[in-house]
Amino acid sequence: MKLVFLGKPLSGKGTQAELLTQKLHIPHISTGELLRKEIRKKTPLGRKIAPLLQKGKLISDTLIFSVLQKQLPKDHFLLDGFPRNVRQAQMLDKITKINLVVDVFCSDQTILKRAAARQTCEHCGKVYGLHPQPKKMGVCTVCQGKLLRRDDDIIPTVRKRLQVYRQEGQKLAHYYKQRKIYFSVHGEDPILQVQKEILRKIESIK
Ligand code: AMP
Repeated sequence: MKLVFLGKPLSGKGTQAELLTQKLHIPHISTGELLRKEIRKKTPLGRKIAPLLQKGKLISDTLIFSVLQKQLPKDHFLLDGFPRNVRQAQMLDKITKINLVVDVFCSDQTILKRAAARQTCEHCGKVYGLHPQPKKMGVCTVCQGKLLRRDDDIIPTVRKRLQVYRQEGQKLAHYYKQRKIYFSVHGEDPILQVQKEILRKIESIK
């Protein structure tokens, strides 16, 4: 099963991909996370792209595609964060056949609220937000690690990321609707309800 998640930043696509990974045992590939790893490791690539991520801008199609190609499993994956535009979708189509595209819809208002609340454990990577919240402020409930805000979750940067998304998101949805592999869910519905809808859809195309 090869699945792509579309949606605005903080729409919940990463959360859904992570839940499905646990349920279906299919690897979750997040291009944003691949890039943040490079930045954390301070690799030459990480140093080059850090300012772009900080400003909420996209990195070039060819660069992100080369990063992705090295990490993309052959048969099964849940891809989150790629493609971001039609050109990237066409690049992906040249190397693999996607079974389903899940578009997670969410209003800008909710996205901004979520951005203000999102924190990630620097140790185990667990993500907290409006749901779930950590039991103790600033401390990971799972491993007691320190919780950090993502640099690109500050509100002006989130607004920039939403603007970048608006420019391409609809074209991308149209691209996949034409290929009849497009499915949309409402990212403001309860997390488990959204997950069930996606699982039902996956079952129906198996
Ligand atoms: P995300 O975690 O998916 O919100 O991505 C965080 C940031 O990584 C984005 O704001 C971009 O700067 C960069 N990025 C992630 N995926 C892509 C992509 N497919 N194309 C270009 N830039 C990307």
